[in-house]
Amino acid sequence: MTDSPGSDHFDLVVIGAGPAGEKGAAQAAYFGKRVCIVERAPKPGGAMVNTGTIPSKTLRETAMYFSGFRQRGVYGVDLRVKPGITVGDFMQRERNVIESEWELIDENIQRHHITTIQGTARFLDAHTLEVTRYGTTTRRLTADIFLVATGARPEPPVGYTLYDEVVVDSDSLLMLQRIPASMIVVGGGVIGCEYACTFAALGTRVTVINERGRLISHLDPDVSDALRRSMTARLNVTVYGNAEVRTVEVHGRRAAVTLRDGTIIASDLVLVASGRVGNAASLGLEALGVRTNAQSFVQVDANYRSAVSNIYAAGDVIGFPALASTGMEQARVAVCHAFDLRYKRAVSSVLPYTVWTIPELATVGESEEALLARGAAFEIGRANFRDSARGQILGDVDGFVKLLFDPASQRVLGVTIVGEGACELIHIGMTVIALEGTLDFFIQAAFGFPSLGEAYKYAAYDGLQRLQRRQARLPTPVPAEPATDVRV
Ligand SMILES: Cc1cc2nc3c(=O)[nH]c(=O)nc-3n(C[C@H](O)[C@H](O)[C@H](O)COP(=O)(O)OP(=O)(O)OC[C@H]3O[C@@H](n4cnc5c(N)ncnc54)[C@H](O)[C@@H]3O)c2cc1C
Repeated sequence: MTDSPGSDHFDLVVIGAGPAGEKGAAQAAYFGKRVCIVERAPKPGGAMVNTGTIPSKTLRETAMYFSGFRQRGVYGVDLRVKPGITVGDFMQRERNVIESEWELIDENIQRHHITTIQGTARFLDAHTLEVTRYGTTTRRLTADIFLVATGARPEPPVGYTLYDEVVVDSDSLLMLQRIPASMIVVGGGVIGCEYACTFAALGTRVTVINERGRLISHLDPDVSDALRRSMTARLNVTVYGNAEVRTVEVHGRRAAVTLRDGTIIASDLVLVASGRVGNAASLGLEALGVRTNAQSFVQVDANYRSAVSNIYAAGDVIGFPALASTGMEQARVAVCHAFDLRYKRAVSSVLPYTVWTIPELATVGESEEALLARGAAFEIGRANFRDSARGQILGDVDGFVKLLFDPASQRVLGVTIVGEGACELIHIGMTVIALEGTLDFFIQAAFGFPSLGEAYKYAAYDGLQRLQRRQARLPTPVPAEPATDVRV
């Protein structure tokens, strides 16, 4: 980030140039506001570009390429990781993608004539910010509105001490100078499972230690089970469920993890993938009356306004769901509210949730568990990729599309997809749910052939058949399994 010259009063000052800060700033500037972004790091992008979303997804793609994972077993040749692959090979593409992202963000900021200042921001009062940077004169900025978009950072649970290249978190993992032969991932949430799959595809022997019984526990059981099956059977990952870590000890360049039941597991690397806290503690917010919680997440209302009327907050610094995708939208909504722009009033309630494990997982709308908990009536329609031509061509025989719909109106309530392309395909389901569509959309639509998208149509037919059986009071076969005559 390079400092732009100019006066020190703005309509809006945004703290943090991550996805939330960038998009909030651009939204206000688009509507003619004088905007400044203060960012302490030399490069923009925050966790999304530098330590989180982009690195993890690029490394997954690199691992898939170097390991020939997509082709394994498909061509009768058992491709394995290219011999002699170095950490440099592994990280190269990640570096290239990050540099391109920095350029894209800088271009966006310049196109919107947004002032940028590099330094660490701290509030002096509700309208004044102090920006400090080593070796430069402290600056004071005033603004009508502030948007706090300072993100979050990994905070290992009590008892864990990070240790150079042996015990790492999701940030320091990216500094590795070697590809570990073995790795223990503590935490069976999204970040833990994504990295477990990436390293396992590369040939690392991975063990996941999960406090809960299910991996990524907020997903429906059949989805979580599909992930576990793939991780254990295809990637040779060992998963300990309902397991608690007692100690982590470093011995030279290796670590030993002892579980509560006495099991000891040794490995080259331990990734601690649990616990994040908001970057709000050092901003001087509490003194102004802005409320934060025990994890330093800023408390905001439905318009992303804090307890102080001209200070808004968006993105990871307000906590759940802590996704780049939602943070950007929250920031746009916050800015529209602050300047009464009447352009965007709320973040969509239909949010896709995409997980880049192997296989990909994606959900949108209602989950089966949530509907059951509410006692809401629903029916399932399901189609497996193995029953589609595209699934056969790709060799993805484990993937599936699952629709949840209202039996009376046939309105689509939720979609879950497991398998190749799930994180893209989910947007078809998202659109239908957002437009309050029914199964009939899929029944009437002509899908490209061969395509995975076709699975939506066969899941809809499956749903209709289940409904017919239900109406004829015939016993429904085993739930969530597709009908055999699914190719209507
Ligand atoms: C491993 C991993 C994988 C992920 N994968 C996905 C994914 O697939 N999809 C998805 O949507 N999300 C993903 N996320 C989450 C995503 O990265 C975050 O939700 C997103 O980056 C949050 O954006 P933000 O703008 O709120 O904060 P950040 O991106 O954290 O940016 C905050 C910025 O504020 C700056 N800052 C902090 N304090 C100050 C201060 N006092 N003064 C000035 N500047 C300050 C920081 O330097 C930083 O640049 C992932 C995260 C991780 C860790």
